[in-house]
Amino acid sequence: MSKRTLFIAGNWKMNKTATEAAEILTELKVKVVGFDGKINIAICPTFTALDRAVKTVAGTNIEIGSQDISVHESGAYTGEISASMLLDLGVKYVIIGHSERRQYHGETDELVSKKAKVAFDAGLLPIVCIGETLEERETDKMPEVITTQIKGSLAGLTADEIVKTTIAYEPIWAIGTGKTASPAQAQEVHALIRKLLSDAYGVDVAEKVIIQYGGSVKPDNSAELMGQTDIDGALVGGASLEADVFAGLIANAL
Ligand code: PEP
Repeated sequence: MSKRTLFIAGNWKMNKTATEAAEILTELKVKVVGFDGKINIAICPTFTALDRAVKTVAGTNIEIGSQDISVHESGAYTGEISASMLLDLGVKYVIIGHSERRQYHGETDELVSKKAKVAFDAGLLPIVCIGETLEERETDKMPEVITTQIKGSLAGLTADEIVKTTIAYEPIWAIGTGKTASPAQAQEVHALIRKLLSDAYGVDVAEKVIIQYGGSVKPDNSAELMGQTDIDGALVGGASLEADVFAGLIANAL
């Protein structure tokens, strides 16, 4: 079990209306109340559900995050949502560089690092996602890909900001596919990420960074995954959509 406080976040992707979000969070907050102080919990709904979500969980041990952020502060950027708008709603975290944003919206490591900086400047905490494709893993390129993504996606952040950054290692081949990296496979990459952080920012910084695993985490595999030395939590898609399932996943991880 890791020395760091576990952090499990749900990424609802493009699911749940504001009304549905309020219903599930009303159920979830009761189910996780007993975990207060043992773990950090967040839910990242769509932009349209953020306001209701923040109000529904006010005063509980659930925090709210967004799934993206604009790199721009304000202005003529139709459809974009700025950091200050999110902060004003009471949002705490922001997922940046999820593989679906990288794949469908062409987000690069450079853009991810700029968004992370924008988040910090506004007072939001980024959850920066990285991960290799199946082809990259099968052709032994995983270490190179992870190294490039870590260096590029965190470029320009200070050591103090790195400590407050959550990194989500999400092998693309394990997202929404039902295929999970084995605990040993995941631990290997988490250890590599921590080594890269240690080389760049020193061991004290690296030891404090929360590194989540993401990719088909479920109630029946959360305990083994979270039991690995360098796995400090999870970013959960499908299994975060129902209060019962997500609460069970968290209970098993503790
Ligand atoms: C994700 O969306 O970040 C994710 C890990 O999804 P799933 O848990 O459904 O694989």
